[in-house]
Amino acid sequence: MPMKLFKCDETIPERQKHIYIKEKGEDTTQFLPSANVETIPGSLSERGCSYCGAKLVIGGVLKDTIQLIHGPVGCSYDTWHTKRYPSDNGNFQLKYAWSSDMKEQHIVFGGEKLLKKAIKEAFAEFPDIKRMMVYTTCSTALIGDDIKPVVKEVEQELGDVDIFTVECPGFAGVSQSKGHHVFNIGWVTEKVGTFEPEITSPYTINVIGDYNIQGDTFVLEKYMEKMGIQIIAHFTGNGTYDSLRGMHRAQLNVTNCARSAGYIANELKKRYGIPRIDVDTWGFDYCKEGLRKIGTFFGIEERAEAVIAEEVAKYESKLAWYKERLTGKKVCIWTGGPRLWHWTKALEDDLGMKVVAMSSKFGHQEDFEKVIARGDEGTIYIDDGNELEFFEVLEMVNPDLILTGPRVGALVKKLHLPYVNGHGYHNGPYMGFEGAVNMARDMYNAIYSPLMRLAKDDIREDVSVANSNGNGNGKLTKSTSTDATSLIQQPASKATSPVQQPAPAKETTSKVEQPAPAKETTSKVQQPAPAKETTSKVEQPAPAKETTSKVQQPAPAKETTSKVEQPAPAKETTSKVQQPAPAKETTSKVEQPAPAKETVLPVPQPAKEIASYIQERTEEVTSLIQQRCLWQFHSRSWDREENINGVLGQAAKILTGEQVVLENLIDRAFYADAKLLVNDLEKKFQWLSKMDNVQKKAVLESVKHKLIDIAITKSLNGELHHSIY
Ligand code: SF4
Repeated sequence: MPMKLFKCDETIPERQKHIYIKEKGEDTTQFLPSANVETIPGSLSERGCSYCGAKLVIGGVLKDTIQLIHGPVGCSYDTWHTKRYPSDNGNFQLKYAWSSDMKEQHIVFGGEKLLKKAIKEAFAEFPDIKRMMVYTTCSTALIGDDIKPVVKEVEQELGDVDIFTVECPGFAGVSQSKGHHVFNIGWVTEKVGTFEPEITSPYTINVIGDYNIQGDTFVLEKYMEKMGIQIIAHFTGNGTYDSLRGMHRAQLNVTNCARSAGYIANELKKRYGIPRIDVDTWGFDYCKEGLRKIGTFFGIEERAEAVIAEEVAKYESKLAWYKERLTGKKVCIWTGGPRLWHWTKALEDDLGMKVVAMSSKFGHQEDFEKVIARGDEGTIYIDDGNELEFFEVLEMVNPDLILTGPRVGALVKKLHLPYVNGHGYHNGPYMGFEGAVNMARDMYNAIYSPLMRLAKDDIREDVSVANSNGNGNGKLTKSTSTDATSLIQQPASKATSPVQQPAPAKETTSKVEQPAPAKETTSKVQQPAPAKETTSKVEQPAPAKETTSKVQQPAPAKETTSKVEQPAPAKETTSKVQQPAPAKETTSKVEQPAPAKETVLPVPQPAKEIASYIQERTEEVTSLIQQRCLWQFHSRSWDREENINGVLGQAAKILTGEQVVLENLIDRAFYADAKLLVNDLEKKFQWLSKMDNVQKKAVLESVKHKLIDIAITKSLNGELHHSIY
């Protein structure tokens, strides 16, 4: 039975709906764990509260904003400093915590006066800061404090301040996820459109759902800068209050964590016509794909390729070193939600690891659709897992490493299992090419560190009387403890170096056996001559040239520029992109590899055989899309349908050499996704080059129907038709 009832859950059989083990041939229309529902009494949840989702995850990251928590001081502490999201202005947001510090008398007589006093006090303490967010918590919401009128009063009195209120007490939803939602919708409704940013580039984006964990944002910002792309707003890593008010001026929303910020991306699409391209910027392959999509959208593919080539040259050999040592290692990912689907293929494809169990704290069914589509058979998927279930899973899968937060991390450490902080990271950033190497290094260090092995031994058992300190307390003599210390220190000192030069610790070397690390590493770094290797990789599938010529036409720099300067991006774009219409060139290019007449031979002729041949190819393409693409799994059915039709419609045109007309920004986003998909299809499926255009179209049409079936018509996702985000 794919929905699994663990032994530890016999007294709470409802947990069976939340745990799934994937079996051969199954898809998410048959089994999908229940998610984003109330925690079952008797199951000790790892979740955070809704206020925490709004403050800790999203608002609290902003670098220029006072975050005032209206409630008892504990709510403030709960969301302070527990994540590491630095900023480039001295980490103002990490240094302070602000609270109205409710006491019993305020609960009895009301806390509004106290709040007003606290707001004014905070502004007075930080005279340079003019922006603030005020959050309600359980106590202040329960007594009915009305914070908006208080905030209005202060704004009028002070004149030069702007305050955003987040009314999302801890009990507002089943987990922190509700806080993400309330923040997103509140912000787009009240604040977006109230500030006009300065436009400095013809290419403008918002980066959505990235919180600069240990510098992730800085990595992305570097890539965008090299490509000449202006980030109007970063929601919310290293972001500012006013930049987020100007989100309506971007041409594209690049969405990373769709769980915490997909809502605002969807609203920006609906209200302002700004399209959304979803990327996974963790992992080598995914990062390349993300940059290529952005480059294709703007018609600057060559810039994306240049960044990729430069980064790959720097980091590929280092990643390869770790891959050799991490291949085959079994890993569990027990994080919030999105990292399950961001990381599973990246770890498997980039490093040859095997993801054997995944647990999500606050993911929705949409997240499980994504990760189950990407995951392997036999993998365990858990929603809102509890401690006893974790113990049982560990026995079942016997992993080499757990990627999880510090709370569960402390638990597995007691079992002498290595863990790497999957929330705040050990030594990030983990994003981008350098991040992939950092993450591999931390995993390698965790798995191969002798600490876990040493921790299993009760050293006292080996200590002879002569060796002991003689007072019967079992403590070691100086010499024994020095031995142990040196063992521990040895790899620790090496552990810091591997990113620069991945020569492993001595103890590690013996485990890795074959490869004689130092030399091997050296030879690898020299041998593959990164720059060339990279070049040849990029050239092989010939995406650079092909892409360049096509997209240069529909979206030249100047055109884009004028667009940005004017308002109402969607429509204006339409007319502009229509003109250059790269259709003919596109056509000729795609026709070349697959001339109709040559094609006839390999494809079966009788109708029945053709039908089954098309059916088989449909399965292959669908499976690839399910694994690689995210556009089919956006939050709501209307969006999924639009994306499936849009991307596959463009893909059919590119594949068959038909005219591609890009009428607006939304079309351009479809084109970018379609272009990457076609590159993938042509690389992976040789049979495509033997098909004629009619057959290619038949396959993609059939894929379209199948995806609509899986992602919409037969989807078990109960949230698909929600009217709200
Ligand atoms: S908002 Fe409520 S649930 Fe959250 S920390 Fe405060 S009291 Fe606890």
